[in-house]
Amino acid sequence: MSLATATPPVDATGQDAPYLLTPGPLTTSDTIKAAMLHDWGSWDDDFNRLTAEVRAQLLELAGALGDAYACVPLQGSGTFAVEAALATAIDRRGKALVLANGAYGQRAAKILDYLGRAHVVLDKGDYLPPRGEEVAAWLDADPEITDVFLVHCETSSGILNPLSEIAEAVKARGKGLIVDAMSSFGAVPLTVEAVPFDVMVSSANKCIEGVPGFGFVILRRELLEASAGRSHSLSLDLYEQWRYMERTGQWRFTPPTHVIAAFHTALAEHRAEGGVAGRLARYTRSRERLVAGMREFGFATLLEDRWLSPIITTFFSPGHPAFDFGRFYAELKARGFVIYPGKLTEAESFRIGCIGRLDVAVVERLLVAVGEALDAMGVDDARPAA
Ligand SMILES: *Cc1c(COP(=O)(O)O)cnc(C)c1O
Repeated sequence: MSLATATPPVDATGQDAPYLLTPGPLTTSDTIKAAMLHDWGSWDDDFNRLTAEVRAQLLELAGALGDAYACVPLQGSGTFAVEAALATAIDRRGKALVLANGAYGQRAAKILDYLGRAHVVLDKGDYLPPRGEEVAAWLDADPEITDVFLVHCETSSGILNPLSEIAEAVKARGKGLIVDAMSSFGAVPLTVEAVPFDVMVSSANKCIEGVPGFGFVILRRELLEASAGRSHSLSLDLYEQWRYMERTGQWRFTPPTHVIAAFHTALAEHRAEGGVAGRLARYTRSRERLVAGMREFGFATLLEDRWLSPIITTFFSPGHPAFDFGRFYAELKARGFVIYPGKLTEAESFRIGCIGRLDVAVVERLLVAVGEALDAMGVDDARPAA
């Protein structure tokens, strides 16, 4: 299947529309954009039906059939949903173990600072994965820990953290498991049968390929029912959001109506592509071609192959003296591709994402553009500095 080759990078407004090779906002399909050309009343039955279908379909996608789990969408970017989830899931007298190997783990720890929730951080630095055995050892050494927070795909480096072995260690000790699956849900298998999480957080503008505007939390209904009065925040109170939605079918405060309509279409396109398996296959083909092609120029990946996610890949900047990231970015953008700066504390790097409405044919064209950009700068060898 070829999604994008026939489409020049110009959008319906006639403006240049470079491919966004970034972890959201993403390049979206024309049909998803077109779904936003209608105005909806936030209290209207037609719109309430969209909300109900989106919530039910997300639960289905997580393999959460029956009544054990609930799906609560929340206005805002993904971080709003993470903050809401942490405030709802962790008791005020609880203590969290935050597994960090990048910006999003660090951000969760910072949220817990704001919330005044006790926590410890197992910090693996920029790119090393936390392992199940380490988590087990930390939990055994500190029985006060009640909950563990893990980022599934840490988008800062692109690493796919070993969720199954960590979930096993957490669940064997009866602790709560909170998963930030923001950049993986919809493309990397994650179901409640396989990973018995308590709380999972994701958002509209990642692997489901919607536009930004809301996040959603899938969590155990029992936990949600026990969380009344726990949140520090009126607008981020997931319990109240859920109660109101259950009672009225509406969002508590003004919903991002157009975003939800677009997301409803995005979910239909996700199903039409073969669901999680179909999306994983497309992203994986793109990632494999990307990494192979970049290595031919001499570029090196930050991660060993076994930790690479199909979502986003970090490459070291070339050691060649003529390489300049700002120039490289501009040369690629002029050729229709927007890449993403790196987020490593030590080495110079950049990132290229494979999520969004693009496929291996787009990656082939990107590789041509990378070759041209290197030529334009006079870089004949893209190997990193020793
Ligand atoms: C995108 C993302 C978030 C949320 O970031 P926002 O900028 O608030 O949307 C959280 N965690 C991970 C792993 C992400 O990739």
